[in-house]
Amino acid sequence: MAADPEVLNRRAALAAYATQTAACTGCRLAQGRTQVVFGVGEPNSDLMLVGEAPGFHEDQQGYPFVGQAGKLLDKLLGGIGLTRGDVYIANVIKCRPPGNRDPQPDEIEACEVHLFRQIELIEPTVVATLGNFATKLLSGKPHGITRVHGRPQETTLGGRLVTLYPLYHPAAALYTPAMLRTLEDDFRRIPELLAEETGEPAQIIQFPPAAPEIAAPSAEQLGLF
Ligand code: URA
Repeated sequence: MAADPEVLNRRAALAAYATQTAACTGCRLAQGRTQVVFGVGEPNSDLMLVGEAPGFHEDQQGYPFVGQAGKLLDKLLGGIGLTRGDVYIANVIKCRPPGNRDPQPDEIEACEVHLFRQIELIEPTVVATLGNFATKLLSGKPHGITRVHGRPQETTLGGRLVTLYPLYHPAAALYTPAMLRTLEDDFRRIPELLAEETGEPAQIIQFPPAAPEIAAPSAEQLGLF
């Protein structure tokens, strides 16, 4: 079967943009990074997940969510029948803030162009924002994640109407069992949201009953709550 040109074009356009972004010096974070952590996954996916910023392991390996929070994210995706190869994962900030501190407003301002361009190229139907930074940036509203998690909202991103779906950040859920349960519950609604947007039938969801036992370093420095 011949490959769909639109699929190939999107892949090529995103790869070209990643190459261009690899040399970014748009803010002070360029000085301390090992590399730009652009994003990973399927450029043709209907589902995009947006986190905060690379941490130590992401900076070293060049991919988002490869540490403990990433393991939990993989598990959550597995629970709805997906792998990270089925979705596209990116961050608000593409370079590691020193000591994993919170991204500064001017860093977000300098970097947001890359995320918005990614959204424009990928054209997802559902954008799940992980934590406060992604949620506030992409909703354009100041409401914190505790208030808005699990509540889908229609918003225009990359020139198209998409469903924005705020979720707790997986790194925050690593520390708090109640938050983890909420994140699992919210995650379970993703197939339904995708089905609403694409008209495809929702997948059968079988979530693993056991909570993952993953220890992780301090959440506070990530400003996750
Ligand atoms: N936390 C994030 O927000 N992004 C990553 O890539 C890793 C941890």
